[in-house]
Amino acid sequence: MTEPAISADAMLVHAGARPGPGEPAVPPPVLATILASAGEPRAEDYGRGGNRTWALLEQALGGIEAAQAVVFSSGQAASMALMLALARDRERIVLPRDGYYNARVLAQRLRPHGAAPVLVDLGDLAEVKRELADGRAVLWAETPTNPLLRVADITRLGELAAAAGAPMIVDNTVATGLLQRPLDLGATASLCSLTKSASGHSDVIAGAVMTRDEALADELRSWRTLGGGILGPMEAWLVLRGLRTLPLRIERQSATALAVAMHLARHPSVTAVHYPGVHGPTLALARAQMPRGFGPLLSFEVAGPAEVADAVVAAARLIVPATSFGGVESTWERRARWPGETAPPSLIRLSVGIEPAPDLLADIDQALERVPSVG
Ligand code: PLP
Repeated sequence: MTEPAISADAMLVHAGARPGPGEPAVPPPVLATILASAGEPRAEDYGRGGNRTWALLEQALGGIEAAQAVVFSSGQAASMALMLALARDRERIVLPRDGYYNARVLAQRLRPHGAAPVLVDLGDLAEVKRELADGRAVLWAETPTNPLLRVADITRLGELAAAAGAPMIVDNTVATGLLQRPLDLGATASLCSLTKSASGHSDVIAGAVMTRDEALADELRSWRTLGGGILGPMEAWLVLRGLRTLPLRIERQSATALAVAMHLARHPSVTAVHYPGVHGPTLALARAQMPRGFGPLLSFEVAGPAEVADAVVAAARLIVPATSFGGVESTWERRARWPGETAPPSLIRLSVGIEPAPDLLADIDQALERVPSVG
């Protein structure tokens, strides 16, 4: 009799837990920085080279995208290792103009050690093709982007990158591997800040790279060991615990975020709403690329200057005024308050949590009363 296949969602619920008789049903974190060893050393004999709790987390993350996962102390540490591994001997790193701003800042800082950053609109395939043309570039894609939630066509970008001999990285933080599978669509590596939805409780900073390229995974592990951007075992354990509820959380958050985005799109004090599920020109692409939902993050612009947006954020009774996204609690912020961020001045980025939708809609509506009515 053939055994029924276990779904990836079910595997996640049991992430890291395969207890034998008499063993803890859920794995405790392994804090030891040294393993008893003599003779030929192994990487994990010293805690900067490996740790059993990371290994469990890497198995669980790898299972989501059918890949190897390499975990880091943050999403930025993962990005730095990727840039060092893939962009050092190339001439250009092609990044989205409107993506996560610290990827641009990091690429600029690393410039003396590698490729020169070039900014493009990922929706303009002719521009991307032109910048990749000489075969000396690496493509750093992000979709949906933070904070404008723009959706790019991973398959088409992957084809352009492959034709130009360029590796393609997709920052998959907003969607996570549960909603979007970049490696199936041509990406060399998929990057995820685990700080967001993957851990989901706003209490841990962590990051990971998923790849099916064995040599790249080895290279990333080697940068991690040498550079020391390792994840603490407690943090790894917290992410593992969060992952068990990721499917539940992200489905509910996606459904509520879509309801909120549609509500905002009809609101007289809102001049623009950015969400993959309501953005007309890329709606069909978003549905095909993210079949399970569009994720917890959306942004919108209020009528009026930055001060009005600040007043709206401050007026929330339930939504927490804070940065980051993907937590169980809803948070929002005026995004352009960060130096280096290029979002419009009155754009509010909202991360939808797991609260019931009517509570969130009521909170948003009462906060939007701070916007002076027009006409
Ligand atoms: N990528 C995206 C899209 C992000 O939003 C962030 C953080 O906000 C990062 C990467 C960096 O992740 P971390 O804060 O875990 O370093």
